Amino acid sequence: MLVQVALPVPLYRVFDYSVPAEKASSNAALPKIGSRVEVPFGRQTLIGIVVAHISPADSNVPASKLKPIYKCLDSEPILDASMLKLAYWLARYYHYPLGDVLAVMLPSLVRQGKPLDLLITHWRILPHVTDDDFRANAKKQKQQFDMLKLHGKRGASEDVLLLEGMQRSFLKTLEDKGLIERFIEPKIAPLTVKLAKMPLDLNEEQKLAVDAIVSAQQAEEYTGFLLNGITGSGKTEVYLQAMQAVLEAGKQVLILVPEIGLTPQTRARFASRFAAQIVLLHSGMTNTYRLQGWQDCRTGHAQIIIGTRSAVLYPFANLGLIVVDEAHDASYKQQDTLRYHASDVALYRGLQQKIPVILGTATPTLEHLKLVDDAKLVEYQLRTRPGLANPATMQLIDARLQSTHQQSQDDGASFDTGLTDALITAIRQTLEAGDQVLVFLNRRGYAPVLLCESCGWQADCPRCDAHLTVHYSSQNQQNSYLKCHHCDWQAYIPAVCPDCASQNLDARGLGTTRLSENLHALFANPQTSKTLYPIIQIDRDTTRRKDSWENIYQRINQGKPAILVGTQMVAKGHHFPNVTLVCLPNADRGFLSADFRSPEHTAQLMIQVAGRAGRGDKAGRVLIQTLQPDNELLLKLVKDGYLSFARQLLQERKMLGLPPYSYAALIRCEGKTLAATTQALTDAIAGLPDAHNLAVLGPIDAPMSKKNSRYHSQLLLLAKERPQLHHILEHWWPSVLTMSSAKYLKLTLDIDPIGW
Ligand code: ADP
Ligand code: ZN
Ligand code: ZN
Repeated sequence: MLVQVALPVPLYRVFDYSVPAEKASSNAALPKIGSRVEVPFGRQTLIGIVVAHISPADSNVPASKLKPIYKCLDSEPILDASMLKLAYWLARYYHYPLGDVLAVMLPSLVRQGKPLDLLITHWRILPHVTDDDFRANAKKQKQQFDMLKLHGKRGASEDVLLLEGMQRSFLKTLEDKGLIERFIEPKIAPLTVKLAKMPLDLNEEQKLAVDAIVSAQQAEEYTGFLLNGITGSGKTEVYLQAMQAVLEAGKQVLILVPEIGLTPQTRARFASRFAAQIVLLHSGMTNTYRLQGWQDCRTGHAQIIIGTRSAVLYPFANLGLIVVDEAHDASYKQQDTLRYHASDVALYRGLQQKIPVILGTATPTLEHLKLVDDAKLVEYQLRTRPGLANPATMQLIDARLQSTHQQSQDDGASFDTGLTDALITAIRQTLEAGDQVLVFLNRRGYAPVLLCESCGWQADCPRCDAHLTVHYSSQNQQNSYLKCHHCDWQAYIPAVCPDCASQNLDARGLGTTRLSENLHALFANPQTSKTLYPIIQIDRDTTRRKDSWENIYQRINQGKPAILVGTQMVAKGHHFPNVTLVCLPNADRGFLSADFRSPEHTAQLMIQVAGRAGRGDKAGRVLIQTLQPDNELLLKLVKDGYLSFARQLLQERKMLGLPPYSYAALIRCEGKTLAATTQALTDAIAGLPDAHNLAVLGPIDAPMSKKNSRYHSQLLLLAKERPQLHHILEHWWPSVLTMSSAKYLKLTLDIDPIGW
């Protein structure tokens, strides 16, 4: 018999190897399906996963060409049948090579062949050792010894000790001195989950949802739930009470959160309710920690798993429920290699494991609403906020009628603050009432463009189709520069226009830094204001350092009147109980964009930001300053709310035959010239089967066709039915990758793209 191995190479096939008798694992004739083997591949040595056993007669490789495996790395499978099935499904659905799919699914240390020992190192103090065994000057050693001593005779596992601050080098030193010893033991099984705090009394809407989820779980049935609840309506309480039933049944719960929604507060909310083993999985983990987390999920040691996108690809011993929080969030879509969508994968896994999946959001995507219409998701709505707080009211401010406010500078000149008087008055009233204000602007830096007023020159990135952002600070003018937010190119701010030598260079538009300075002049200027209000800027520039976000958070949570200026970082999951006014000086721009998905995404962001207002017991107000107060979609959103707005968009999509009423595949092509990328896509179209019955849009230049000195074209395929699209892609896509005109280009396929 031979083994068929999936290898991490970009080829749409698996590879056959023979197994010399002495290389077979001890208790089986062949390495087991789902285990790792080390094999020769050309001149390389690779590690792959055994996916099948086949007889030599079924192999396409002649016996003389067959190579033997080098090594079998696992005596037991590291991926069970359901994980392999998931891998096959991902490979088929996203048209991605199986070996590469497995490479995405496995932590890097597993891919590198690290032994997956389920036993772990513990340390304990040797029985005869006392404090007297330390010389007076061995203070540091004694201090480390005392940490271990706290764990008594049983000792503790090495990772617990390291987490507590012990250093590996000291463990070694103490061992060498004969003071402590290591021993190997299986990880202690987790205790049964206990409630750490009593659940709240549910309101009617919450109760309906929890009952439905719990009965699906008890019947061991798959059901996809759309928990469609306005911000602050108590979705988390629904998760918690559904989780309780699952945890009490001895099963695991996976909670997915958006990339930047994973804060220490997230963990605290679950930890304060349940005494359970909670594991966090996110992109910032070290490889060792990631491997540990992977093992804890696989063995059942982890009971509550809170993770970002990739956690949906982890193996679980006995998963009982998946929650996708803020299910509309774009960070659930992986944007390179295997371009999966975590909420779609979550639904697939729910179906596979026969467990409920909850998609929770205040702003469901059009795709999810369509699934509700098609009876593939069951919707539960939460329309009220428990407690006193009413949902925030939204209001438009016409920025055309009210010219934006001019503020005088010390030198008598005036400048445009970018804020209307109505907005400024509302901010002042809110601060004077002792509350906080959030001003949302999704653009960091000082200004989005530097312009020559004499000749119209603009500072552009030499490597991208984009303006350079002006970074400037009037407090620290040394620290001023131009920067491309797409490729990080930097340049000095020129003193005169490079084209006409004019000195009339003007930074146009608002970024968060400039907006903060303008607000400073209005509300924190000792020359003109009686009370000085703190202006707190929250964006990637001000939260770069490790603790800065925590510090900012604490400042805000003191609750004193203040103005927060933030990018979309503030839109997700954070609680600011004292914010009662949210201002959006120009968040409505997205309604004008050429991308047909832009209004949906803009509205979701606006509603998320608006949801920050009035989360305590105070009612909130949202003011949207706009230059297009007659925009129908914007009016719909403000007057009738997100759901009516989304329903209207859905109608439009239906009429135009756009997703979710058709199924999309986006092909992107990247290369040194636009001509080459366009040509390759033209050739690709020519290779489509006759009578394919797909709508073919393109090739066209990608939205930012030049990026980092590389050019991008794209092609969109739309099909009426999903199987039709996948049927064509199955043969056509691998052939596109091997076209001669594609040789020096990078071609990628994106199934269910979320933007183009
Ligand atoms: P969401 O996740 O939908 O934005 P949260 O779960 O954060 O909303 O709930 C908002 C607030 O309402 C929280 O402070 C929560 O403790 C409270 N809450 C939720 N459900 C109830 C309930 N049934 N009774 C009282 N308070 C509740
Ligand atoms: Zn000029
Ligand atoms: Zn650039």
